[in-house]
Amino acid sequence: MGKYTVCLDIGGTKVLGAIFNAKGEIVHRIKKRTRANEGVSNVEETILSVVRELVEGFGIALTDVEAISAGAPGIINNDTGVVLFSPNLPWRNYAIKKSVEKQFGIPFFIGNDVNLGVLGEWKFGVAEGLSHVVGLFVGTGLGGGLIINGKMYSGHQYKGAEFGHMILNIDGPQCNCGQRGCLEAFSSKTGMTDYIRQQILHGRSTMMADSIREGVFKSKEMKAAYEADDEVMIEAIDRACLYLAVATGNLVNMFSPEMVIFGGGVMEALGAVFLEKILSKVNAYCLPSVRESVRFEVASLGDDSILFGARALILDAFESGAIL
Ligand SMILES: [Zn+2]
Repeated sequence: MGKYTVCLDIGGTKVLGAIFNAKGEIVHRIKKRTRANEGVSNVEETILSVVRELVEGFGIALTDVEAISAGAPGIINNDTGVVLFSPNLPWRNYAIKKSVEKQFGIPFFIGNDVNLGVLGEWKFGVAEGLSHVVGLFVGTGLGGGLIINGKMYSGHQYKGAEFGHMILNIDGPQCNCGQRGCLEAFSSKTGMTDYIRQQILHGRSTMMADSIREGVFKSKEMKAAYEADDEVMIEAIDRACLYLAVATGNLVNMFSPEMVIFGGGVMEALGAVFLEKILSKVNAYCLPSVRESVRFEVASLGDDSILFGARALILDAFESGAIL
């Protein structure tokens, strides 16, 4: 594969874009606000403008780009490039592949962001060379990814590996999916924010009060409060890690992976703290014989794991002959 590829990480608040060279190195990158609450056409315009600005900023032409690939939250059919549903973006049955390919005349690929994050870590990061990998990405939501027998597994129509909606307590807190007590409702930034909000309602004080007034806190605000020994923040983190340990134990027993990877914005900010807290509890929830052979690691590509996974999607398409 020669020339350049453009890879995108489309989130609810920002779009990260990067140009990779033929050696697989990121040579140029930009970040832009998604404007998710301004409608379908604005989000698409953001994506198109990120591609254009990347290409112009790096001083190449669109004809130098062999393929574009993106990770986005939600249920996405990798084959058809249709986003069936996205929790943070205004997309329902949205044929984004068709739309972008029509604009640029360049092959476009898209997949679930966390599936791609795990794919990136498996192909180029901490899990390189392994055959059985479980990934949990903790951010605004909580997503999962699964490598089984040396292949990405995402279930029928790419709808599976939704580890964030593993129900851990049927009487637990409300989750955005409509259920109660999902892992996401305890351990994501949304779950931790809800917990902090409840504590404030009970009259407790925390330096996170301003951070959660208008929605979910930012990872760096969580880090600052943790480092300042904010009692309520530490409780929210401990609770998040307890449920992450329970979910991890379930996944270890189900899949006997060689490695469980923890990634996402929360891990990028406080990975060592989270990993230590998860590790201090996880053994109680694993079958001892299975626990023996699994390693727990923080994602090594950080914020770039989804970009690298998007690139892996292009490489797979070249290998399978989908791009000639
Ligand atoms: Zn849920």
